[in-house]
Amino acid sequence: DIVLFNSFFNRIIDRFEMSKSDKVRFERLLPEASYYVEIDTDKVTQVIDNIISNAIKYSPDGGNIRFGFTVQGDMLKVMISDDGMGIPKENVGRIFDRFYRVDRARARSMGGTGLGLAIAREMIEAHDGKIWAESEEGHGTTVFFTLPLNLDDFDEAGEWE
Ligand code: ATP
Ligand code: MG
Repeated sequence: DIVLFNSFFNRIIDRFEMSKSDKVRFERLLPEASYYVEIDTDKVTQVIDNIISNAIKYSPDGGNIRFGFTVQGDMLKVMISDDGMGIPKENVGRIFDRFYRVDRARARSMGGTGLGLAIAREMIEAHDGKIWAESEEGHGTTVFFTLPLNLDDFDEAGEWE
C-alpha cells in the first residue's frame, strides 16, 4: 500500500497514547510536509509497535518518549527515543539479533522473548531499509529506521504534492 507516512505514524502513536500509563509522556516532533511510502502496513506497524513497547518498557517513571522523522535523500528516516536505562555500548549492535537480551536478570523481570527487534530488522530489510540504535547507558536509547520514499508523489519543482 502507498501511505501518507505522517498519518500512518500518528495513528500508531495515538493507539499507544490512549492505553499507556501516566508513567511516560509522549512528544511528537513530526514535520507537516506530506511524505509517502510504499509499505506492507501490517509489517511496518508491527515494527513500530515493538520499538514503542520497548521504549515504554525500559523507561523510568516520568520518562519522555520522542517521535520524529526526517528525509535524507530518497529515504525517510524515523526515530523513536527514550530516556530510559539505555544499553551498554558494546551490546547496542546485538539487540537486533535473535533472542538477544541485554542482561538476563533485567530480561526476566521485563518479560518478552528477545525476538521483537530481530523481526523488526527482517521486516525493514525486506522494505530495503535499515534499522539501528544509538544508546548511552543510564541516559536513553534512540532507535532509527529508514524506508524508501515513494517518489511518484514528488513533482518536478521538487515539492511534495
Ligand atoms: P520481545 O520484543 O520479543 O517481547 P524483548 O523486548 O526483550 O522481547 P527485543 O524487542 O528484540 O526483545 O529487544 C532486545 C533487547 O534489547 C531487550 O531485551 C532489551 O535488553 C534491549 N532493548 C531494546 N529496546 C530497548 C530500549 N529502548 N531501552 C533499553 N534496552 C532496550
Ligand atoms: Mg521488544
